[in-house]
Amino acid sequence: MEETLKILVVDDDEVDRMTVRRALTKASIKMELSEAKDGQSAIFALTNHEYDCVFLDYRLPDQDGLSLINQIQVAEIKVPLVVLTGQGDEQIAVELMKAGATDYLTKSRISSETLARILRNAVRVHRAEMQIAIANQQIRENHELLIRKNQELEKQRQQIQLQNLKLLEASRLKSQFLGTMSHELRTPMNAIIGFSQILLRPKFGQLTHQQTDMVERIFNNGKHLLMLLNEVLDFSKLEAGRLELKPELFELPKIINSTVAEMRPLFENKKLSLIVQVDLANPVIFNDSVRVRQILVNLLSNANKFTEAGEVWVEVNEIPGNRIAIAVRDTGIGIAPQDFQHIFEAFRQVDQSITRKYPGTGLGLAIIDSLVRMMGGKIILESQLEVGSMFRIELPRQVTSATTTGNNPALYLGSDEIQCSTQNPHHPYNQFSKASMGSPHFKP
Ligand code: ADP
Repeated sequence: MEETLKILVVDDDEVDRMTVRRALTKASIKMELSEAKDGQSAIFALTNHEYDCVFLDYRLPDQDGLSLINQIQVAEIKVPLVVLTGQGDEQIAVELMKAGATDYLTKSRISSETLARILRNAVRVHRAEMQIAIANQQIRENHELLIRKNQELEKQRQQIQLQNLKLLEASRLKSQFLGTMSHELRTPMNAIIGFSQILLRPKFGQLTHQQTDMVERIFNNGKHLLMLLNEVLDFSKLEAGRLELKPELFELPKIINSTVAEMRPLFENKKLSLIVQVDLANPVIFNDSVRVRQILVNLLSNANKFTEAGEVWVEVNEIPGNRIAIAVRDTGIGIAPQDFQHIFEAFRQVDQSITRKYPGTGLGLAIIDSLVRMMGGKIILESQLEVGSMFRIELPRQVTSATTTGNNPALYLGSDEIQCSTQNPHHPYNQFSKASMGSPHFKP
């Protein structure tokens, strides 16, 4: 159904108004037509009613069409304006269009077809313009919204940056505190260990059996505490990038054998077999012997701590690429795949509860991880719950100067050089090694 158009004809000449009405009626335009005889009543009608189109005579008794158009614009009345001009007023018509008229028609050319066509055209154009204006308004609003959102995001980014800086500072203070405290605690601890050792010597007087037992406990606990303090100190140094490797040429089997010999009593106490297999054509490597020993001590302590019965193997051999591998395998409690990645993070243990069965700082593997990275090597972990674990360290035979300083921020970003798998760690070594090459590479 065709819509009814509301039309206003502004003309002081009744005949002209009639001409417009007749032409539109003849063209079968469905309309409600209102009339105004001058500019003032036109403005009154336009401010009180909505129209779909206005036919406007250029020459009105109280003002001309141009000033009426200006008034309509100032009043922000949005309506299509078709100006009806006299013969020869084309120049004026151009001015009117510039001022905001939608179209114009000389009165002599009024016919039902032209008027209907101009009316339909003006309404269509006006509606399209209105839609464009609405869309533009929405775009402007969206744009402003985006600008506001951007400003909020920028504010949040700055806040996060500030918080990051605060966190970095807090972490630095924490490391500094850990470093200072462990350093400070080492001095009295050394005195406790030293004096209890002296007390145990017979030349300082014979202690009763009970006293010897107590002093031995002081001595052993002191040594354990010192080891923990050293771990914390090493960790804080590694975190601050202040730990440096001191590489030298040394025979790896000697370090392996002396470390194993020192730790063997721990295994004997728990009735665990400790089997060593060193298979090196060339025993000499260029690395920091103290740190290589530290890695082995940590791995063996863990193997001892987490194994209740069975065996622990230390296997050392050459691998392609002029590298050597040191593996520690055990028949202990094993590690679940979901914990593989986490156990290399500082202070992380599979059992984080206070009442946990196995003591420790949770720093051992984090330190190993950092040291192995500094040495340009990688760690391979294979484990299965209730079957056992294997930690294999692969190192270049010769560490290079580029990798020997701890001043490398990449060291602390995580263990991207750790490979883990759930392979059964008790296969013969060769098969074991091959299987691990295809194991997933963890990227934390
Ligand atoms: P800590 O031994 O002081 O707890 P580590 O960093 O050396 O800290 O080890 C982190 C965690 O990894 C341990 O708490 C344990 O849960 C797990 N883990 C390490 N080695 C073994 C192993 N050989 N068998 C089973 N779990 C292990």
